[in-house]
Amino acid sequence: MAKTKTAFFCQNCGTQYAKWVGQCTACKEWNTVVEEVIQKSEKASWKTEINPVKKTSKPLRINEISTEKEIRLNTFDIEFNRVLGGGLVPGALVLLGGEPGVGKSTLLLQIALKLPYKTLYISGEESQKQIKMRADRIHPQSENCLILTETKTQNIFKQIVATEPDIVVIDSIQTLHTDYIESAAGSISQIRECTAELIKFAKETNTPVILIGHITKDGSIAGPKILEHMVDTVLQFEGDRNYVYRILRALKNRFGSTSELGIYEMQGGGLRQVNNPSEILISKNDTSLSGTAIASTVEGLRPLMIEIQALVSTAVYGTPQRSTTGYNSKRLNMLLAVLEKRAGFKLGAKDVFLNITGGITVDDPALDLAVITAILSSNSDIPIEKGICFAAEVGLAGEIRPVQRIDQRIIEAEKLGFKTIYVSKNNKISLKSTNIEVLLATKIEDVANALFG
Ligand SMILES: [Zn+2]
Repeated sequence: MAKTKTAFFCQNCGTQYAKWVGQCTACKEWNTVVEEVIQKSEKASWKTEINPVKKTSKPLRINEISTEKEIRLNTFDIEFNRVLGGGLVPGALVLLGGEPGVGKSTLLLQIALKLPYKTLYISGEESQKQIKMRADRIHPQSENCLILTETKTQNIFKQIVATEPDIVVIDSIQTLHTDYIESAAGSISQIRECTAELIKFAKETNTPVILIGHITKDGSIAGPKILEHMVDTVLQFEGDRNYVYRILRALKNRFGSTSELGIYEMQGGGLRQVNNPSEILISKNDTSLSGTAIASTVEGLRPLMIEIQALVSTAVYGTPQRSTTGYNSKRLNMLLAVLEKRAGFKLGAKDVFLNITGGITVDDPALDLAVITAILSSNSDIPIEKGICFAAEVGLAGEIRPVQRIDQRIIEAEKLGFKTIYVSKNNKISLKSTNIEVLLATKIEDVANALFG
């Protein structure tokens, strides 16, 4: 019997070691290196046993290389297409990551059920019956979606050869195992090897493969970061169980930008695409409440109106608390310092809580002015009049700075019925006539005086 071969892998970043070490030299994490059994045979390829035909590529003259735009497969889901950069690229490996229970399987199953192409949905998590019950709630009449319950890659490839699908979905990469590696499913070496086999398959047959990957608590997919380097596109599905909205964003995309957002609403029968997110992100209160302000932001190519809520109260305990949801807490501290130093607002002994409604996270400097006005509104307990919104950055000197794509922000605000928008005086606005009043501001004191007297 052959001697069992083992190696040591960092469970965080995937680095391999010949012997055990206490600290990973690559990612500096402690106690993440564990021993795994590896026994790799020479012939680890998705089709060695099935179809030994080998296709080799040959060099081309530069003028022979086609520059035509690559064909993309429409997924018939506007949000999903947008985040992918216009649809699925043939042969691409897409990783969809997210916390367990956020709705990754639901999203891919509902896309698979509506596709006019033959889709093979492989689940190692649920039985065919369970998937059928779920599918019945989403879209019961699907002709093109095949469901397979399997975890061994060699068997999966046999079924792929037999059914010739146009798209393959794997739920999830952590459940797969290959015969060529002896360690348990979900271990670093298994994940790495199974992904490598799938990449080979995708590239050689031009079939797009979508992998579901569970994110561990520290936010990395499957523990190892290696997966993210191997695949073409990394999508992340985010959302709080307590909120009905889910955000899909690209963290890496070899075939498009990473700035696009997809928004879904979780419903009993699946996920609904939210094509006009501004309407859902702003709460529909008829009465004005103090501490809320609306910002006009841009995510990717899409403008969004979002609501910012602040609560300022006298600190009960010695050290004042600063807490944010959906917003960078360092940025909040900076803005509070600006308010204190440049505008004379005494907030040093106050608790400040800041929240972006809808459970989404936004990182756009154009939120600054809305954040500041929300804080001042809560502090003075004077509500900001309905119909007013903001789009400007605030600098360290308390000056109001211009932001990108101001025209788009103004148009979105106008479209949603806002009457007034505060922007920087230094912003170049090319819009000629608008129904919205555009107020130009230079300092935060000016805005504060206009709003709160
Ligand atoms: Zn490491």
